[in-house]
Order: sequence, then C-alpha cells, then structure tokens
Amino acid sequence: MIRIVFQRRKCIGCNACVEQAPAHWVMSQKDGKSYLRKSVKKGEYYVKHISAPECEENLRAARYCPARIIRVQTF
Ligand code: SF4
Repeated sequence: MIRIVFQRRKCIGCNACVEQAPAHWVMSQKDGKSYLRKSVKKGEYYVKHISAPECEENLRAARYCPARIIRVQTF
C-alpha cells in the first residue's frame, strides 16, 4: 500500500505540489493553502491512499515542496 501524509498546517501556499500533481492537489480559495483531494483528516495530518501509477507525480510534489510537509509512504 502507498499513502500520502500531508501536514497541512505548515503549508506556505507556494503551489508547487499543484504544478507537479494537479490531479491530487488543489489550492484552497479559503485560506491559500494546498488541499490534498479526497484525503481524510487524521489529527494534524491529511492522509490519502494512492495506487502505484499515482506514486511518481506525488513523489515529485513531495520533492518540490519547500516546507517538506508531504510524505509518500510505502508499507
Ligand atoms: S508544495 Fe508544500 S508548501 Fe507548497 S503549496 Fe504544496 S504543500 Fe504547500
């Protein structure tokens, strides 16, 4: 299984994740932070399970995120 774990509180709204993986990330008009589409809030984190073909673009989003708050975990 692969999942994305996103610590939204620390997002600085730079849009890099949206540029890398627009199918998964979108900027919120409300607070200017990014939102992980179809994710579930778990405490401080937003979590979403993804498939193997969706992994690469989200790894790119994680790599380009200057706040380092996107994790792609395989387990
Ligand atoms: S790349 Fe990181 S800091 Fe920038 S909008 Fe996305 S989650 Fe927020």
